[in-house]
Amino acid sequence: MSHTDTIWVAGGDRRQVELARLLALDGHTVHTFALGDRPEPDTKNIEKARCVIFPLPVSTSPGLLNAPAAHGALPLEEIFRCLSPGQILLGGRVDETARTLAHSRGLTIHDYLLREELAVANAVPTAEGAIQLAMEHLPITVHGARVLVLGFGRVGKVTAQRFAALGARVCVAARNPEQLAWAGAMGPECTPLSELGSRLPHCDLIINTIPSPVLGAKELELVPPDCLLLELASAPGGVDASAAAKLGKTLIQAPGLPGKVAPVTAARAIKTTIYHMLRELGQ
Ligand code: NAP
Repeated sequence: MSHTDTIWVAGGDRRQVELARLLALDGHTVHTFALGDRPEPDTKNIEKARCVIFPLPVSTSPGLLNAPAAHGALPLEEIFRCLSPGQILLGGRVDETARTLAHSRGLTIHDYLLREELAVANAVPTAEGAIQLAMEHLPITVHGARVLVLGFGRVGKVTAQRFAALGARVCVAARNPEQLAWAGAMGPECTPLSELGSRLPHCDLIINTIPSPVLGAKELELVPPDCLLLELASAPGGVDASAAAKLGKTLIQAPGLPGKVAPVTAARAIKTTIYHMLRELGQ
């Protein structure tokens, strides 16, 4: 992508404000739309953009641009109407409605959240956010706390490693033997998910990263009353929230931590990913 090209950054939160700033620092001509201190929905000249970057997620309500700074609802359809197939559209967590609306106008939105490098980069602020929440909500230090991490994918790995580095007594539970082998090799204790029951009564903190039901009423009954439950997996998550409430357990749902705890770092990771995608698209 040439530095003389024009990039539009449409909607989003502090991450996109920072992304626009970073792109401009790299020499691009950047316009923002429904963002930060330019909340007005002015699409004039957007048809001249080489690339339009939508936020992460593109929509929080189906068919509408995720634009918390804007004064009113912004239908994606109205924006797409100004764009043409020759333009490059990028967005994070592109839902079916946005994808279909774009397709109906011959447009394709490339999803930067599907990129492995962004998922891995996001695991770091997610783990740091989990540490922040643990420190705020636990009456004990992380050092010495008995921490059970459910799942050992990108977020589980980095989270387990960071808690262990702070002196927590970390145990990893996963279903995948290969992941269990890695967990064992990296130091923390590990247990197959099928044997979770014997671990649950001995935890001060349980961090779930499994995006599938894992702690239902039966399992939650085994969790000590003062244990903190932290849900990191995306909705609907792995912890049965209504069972946890009925049983009086403390559950913190913590979605979108990278954008909340480290918007500047998150923006840098999005920028790097977008540059990789543009290069692969031959721009
Ligand atoms: P990942 O690399 O795919 O890891 C997911 C883990 O869950 C793996 O250990 C996987 O094991 C396991 N798992 C998946 N389905 C399972 C099932 N049905 N039963 C048992 N284990 C299962 O994903 P990730 O990048 O670590 O992300 C984990 C979750 O956190 C996702 O929901 C993601 O959207 C979310 N997330 C949240 C934040 C935040 O701010 N809260 C930030 C980033 C990501 P297998 O390999 O055996 O499937």
